[in-house]
Amino acid sequence: MSHTIAAVSTGSQISAIGIIRLSGDDCITVADRVFTAQSGKSLLDIPDRKLVLGVLRDRQERVIDQCMAVVSRNPHSYTGEDTVEFHCHGSPAVLAAGLDALYRAGALPAKRGEYTKRAFLNGKLDLTQAEAVIDLIEADTADAAANAAGQVGGVLQKKLAPIYDDLTNLCSHFHAVLDYPDEDIEDFALDSYASMLRSHAKALYALLQTYGQGRILRQGVAAAIVGKPNVGKSSLLNALAGYDRVIVTDIPGTTRDTVEESVMLGATRLRLIDTAGIRETADTVEAMGVQRSREAMENADLVLFVCDGSQPLTQEDQDIIDLCLNHENAIALVNKSDLGARVDPSDLPFMAVISICAKTGQGLDQLADMVEAMFAGQAPCDGSILTNARQYDACRRSYEALLRCLRGLQLGQTPDAVLTDVEEAMEAMGEVTGATVREDITARIFERFCVGK
Ligand code: GDP
Repeated sequence: MSHTIAAVSTGSQISAIGIIRLSGDDCITVADRVFTAQSGKSLLDIPDRKLVLGVLRDRQERVIDQCMAVVSRNPHSYTGEDTVEFHCHGSPAVLAAGLDALYRAGALPAKRGEYTKRAFLNGKLDLTQAEAVIDLIEADTADAAANAAGQVGGVLQKKLAPIYDDLTNLCSHFHAVLDYPDEDIEDFALDSYASMLRSHAKALYALLQTYGQGRILRQGVAAAIVGKPNVGKSSLLNALAGYDRVIVTDIPGTTRDTVEESVMLGATRLRLIDTAGIRETADTVEAMGVQRSREAMENADLVLFVCDGSQPLTQEDQDIIDLCLNHENAIALVNKSDLGARVDPSDLPFMAVISICAKTGQGLDQLADMVEAMFAGQAPCDGSILTNARQYDACRRSYEALLRCLRGLQLGQTPDAVLTDVEEAMEAMGEVTGATVREDITARIFERFCVGK
């Protein structure tokens, strides 16, 4: 018996429509206490998944709102339980009053992610699908949304569930032969499973390879803006951010720390890191900045080297260029194009050299196209990309255990020695799909959700 929970599932801002959602065994009865259908019918008697017009009332029988109700009966609902939704006017006051009436009628406040957790516990979603729900809600680019939507639809689940099933079959076959020697069970020959183990290891390897793209989908491209002082790094960051994020002065070395800003550049999300001028100096504060610049560059997916195109390149520029050469994705931005061109692009050994003007924004479209082309991933954003660190870690453990199995097979180890690794691979896979995940971990996963989802 699951108790009835209720929450507002839409945001807390004023909007055209706001939805209150209930789920639980007696939620239709609870909802019926506060809703009167225009037709006079009880919610208990209305057909499944059909919108019904009526009014919500508070305890004093005052009308809170005229709204639509929809009942979805178990198992044809998001949670797999009976659910009711009230589509109200999106006033926070209306929704609060409606929720209050439902609490008084017997519903309990839903906890964070409780609807999705119930969907998971009732087998409507596996854990990869449930986790993708929060990714879909939080997605801030079309690609991230498309990948999360694919995973909600079960793309990852369909890849991983067969691996878990095959490993379970292997283990149960082994134990059946061992535990029931008198039964007529097909002999256990570990070798016959070798090609299955190999093909799953291969599939997991391919999946693990998508994680780099997945991290970028989730967090954006980490882009370090580097260059000597006064070339326009902060101006560039401000131009990309669309507002004055950093104070711009013409005194060299004024940006002494790193500043981070998340911006959309065309269709790509960038996590921009503006660094202090990379410059060896006796000044300790600035020296710290230099250190951070180096670090920022090391952890960046993309380096944007900025120079002042209206001045000839100096040794200082050259030293920074040398640092950039170690990075696989570096673009040179020749800034201050409005002041004339004194830098020859052929002196800049970068994969791309773009003339820009941070003051007017000229050249930034070209930069956007270039970055988009650089980070358009190999894997399609249809749910095949691994974006979640927890899933990545478990898939990696599963993959490594499978490699150990294959090595054990090659070395002719005994089945029970190899089985230990098979079980480990299975356990780790089960953590991803949710088949073997611990309750405390599940609880933590759903705490990331908002109330009402
Ligand atoms: P940073 O030290 O590299 O961060 O450089 P700033 O962004 O602080 O800019 C240094 C100076 O160059 C400021 O006076 C800016 O207004 C100026 N500046 C930056 N970009 C441009 C540009 O595209 N054109 C012109 N004319 N001046 C610029």
